[in-house]
Amino acid sequence: MRSLLLLCALTSVAAAKPVVTISPKTVHPGDPVLVTVTGVDEAPVAKAGGQPLAFFAARQGFQAVFAVPLNIDEDHVMLEVKGDDKPTSIPVLAKKFRETKLVVEDEYANPTADDGKLIDADNGAIGATYAKAAGEPLFHHAFRQPRGAITGYFGEWRTFQDGHRAQHLGLDLDETEGSAVAAVNDGTVVLVRETFLAGNVVVIAHGAGIASMYFHLQKATVAEGDHVRQGERVGLVGHTGRTTGPHLHVGIRVHGGLVDPQTFFKLPLSVPSNGVARAP
Ligand SMILES: [Zn+2]
Repeated sequence: MRSLLLLCALTSVAAAKPVVTISPKTVHPGDPVLVTVTGVDEAPVAKAGGQPLAFFAARQGFQAVFAVPLNIDEDHVMLEVKGDDKPTSIPVLAKKFRETKLVVEDEYANPTADDGKLIDADNGAIGATYAKAAGEPLFHHAFRQPRGAITGYFGEWRTFQDGHRAQHLGLDLDETEGSAVAAVNDGTVVLVRETFLAGNVVVIAHGAGIASMYFHLQKATVAEGDHVRQGERVGLVGHTGRTTGPHLHVGIRVHGGLVDPQTFFKLPLSVPSNGVARAP
């Protein structure tokens, strides 16, 4: 018995030991979290908040991104990586999101039952694209935030003229109507749709569970199934749907939910090791 225990101890010492790095170090509800695991030969088996993570092979080690739920009611997320001695507790700091008031056309502030059905169908179509973002990364560069001054933040509360409140799940960027909207990274166009609230929408799947979406376009200039490169035009800035004027709304979805694009664009995501590295 004693020799068996000793053998087990020796085996565990010899096995590769994962080194887990988290970015950012502290997070807020609605933030994306990048998990980097080095010191292992194979894709790690890991869970964050009880949900399995999907890793891709990065330049060094393996990486995965997950969302801290916007409505999380705990002050931390537990990250468990198989082979690691103990789980990592990621502190989640409370965040007071901005409060804003918005006056939009009545049909948007107070949609009819029929419009409600359209909205549900739109949400279903956008939600159905997320599964298509799974799998190997299609990108070969760091993600890039579209240009334009920020006019609306992720997570801010908007009270409409009829009193109803909604949380804003993307980043609004000031841009001239008709100017080109550039893909934030390489990927596949998985949705082009005229929606009720978000107007003309394009969704790009980037692999690794990451999708980017572009709302209120004057029009889309790509079709579903198109492969796009970073910086390539996917549409024109407009004010279709529920808007107060021309701007680009960009949304980022990672495994687990929509996240703050500003945090996402700063993540030190590595170029995948299987990618054909090209200068950005
Ligand atoms: Zn917006």
